Amino acid sequence: MATHLTNLGSLLSWDSKERCIKTRENIEILLDDGVIKEIGDSTEKGENIIDCSQKLVTPGFVDSHTHPVFLCGREDEYRQRVSGMSYQEIAESGGGIQSSIDGVRNASVEELRERVSNRMDSFLELGTTTVEAKSGYGLSTESELKSLEVLDLVSRSHEIDIVPTFMGAHTFPPEYSDRGTYVDLICEEMIPAVSEQGIAKYCDVFCEKGYFDLDQTTRILDTGKQNNLLPRVHADEFQDSGAAELAAELECVSADHLMAVSDIGIRSLAEKNVTATILPGTTFFLGSHQYAPVKKMVERGVSIALATDFNPGSSHLQSMPFVLVLACLYLNMSIEEALIASTWQGAVSLGMERQVGSIEVDKKADLIIWDVEKPIEIVYSCPGAKIKHVFKNGNQIF
Ligand SMILES: [Zn+2]
Repeated sequence: MATHLTNLGSLLSWDSKERCIKTRENIEILLDDGVIKEIGDSTEKGENIIDCSQKLVTPGFVDSHTHPVFLCGREDEYRQRVSGMSYQEIAESGGGIQSSIDGVRNASVEELRERVSNRMDSFLELGTTTVEAKSGYGLSTESELKSLEVLDLVSRSHEIDIVPTFMGAHTFPPEYSDRGTYVDLICEEMIPAVSEQGIAKYCDVFCEKGYFDLDQTTRILDTGKQNNLLPRVHADEFQDSGAAELAAELECVSADHLMAVSDIGIRSLAEKNVTATILPGTTFFLGSHQYAPVKKMVERGVSIALATDFNPGSSHLQSMPFVLVLACLYLNMSIEEALIASTWQGAVSLGMERQVGSIEVDKKADLIIWDVEKPIEIVYSCPGAKIKHVFKNGNQIF
């Protein structure tokens, strides 16, 4: 059934022909067959007419960095953390990532499928219409494949678009005292199995001091590339370890976090056109004050995407509207810059900019009708303005 959106106040979207942010006023949009058919002063009429009451319309969010495949939340750990316990103490008491690993390893596919599907419902309600989703709480061949199988099952039954990423290199599982042996397992067993099953598009590594070093990261991402998995990397989150430079050298599509990135790292990302995926929710959720130096990156020509980093430990948040609030307050981005970073640039980093990330004819009919008239009202209303309607593939979600 065709849907006719009338009486729009303004539409804010990236324009891929003119390569700029564009705001258009007093227009109408026709959605049909899951795509945007027409945008103009007066479009053909559809059977389903929605009066937008002069409100703002933007593309659906593209959340290009999430870790949604886990069983239970870690609210006990959160309680311990706010009472002053250190990460080390929490880990020693059996909490931290270990509890998520135990959860995934012991869960059935069906249990995980239900949890992940519910999380995808929440993403859609918050206006996220495309989501990148990583494995990485299994850390054994069987449990990593199970995590990706769950994502595959959910994406077949759920309206949201899910882009799967293999992240066996999230951390080292405790049973591997010899870290090199675990890297061997990732390269010799996990990546070939993931590739053979065709259940991931990307390979990601947590490259950080104390986790995967530069050589291990290189080996894993190169093996991924040889197996048709494109490289993304968690880089320079806590300390500058040269991970941004490595991301450029390995031609990663995205380097993520970057709170501690160096000037040389920034220059490398700009030179090789690696998207910097910035996750201010993590800094906020950890009660830290070290936000990524986005202003400097933008001045030096780095393309910025914004995402939630949704995960049970360091960023238990799914709301892109709240990420926009943080981006404006702490990254000094304008609301227009933040909106493009959370729609268009996320799509670019996922290689999906021809299908999603902007409101243009022939693209997927993924859009948000807000309960506000001006973009700035999205972030002025903290923790993010109300959403009136979300459309995914032309279907009204709520
Ligand atoms: Zn992450």
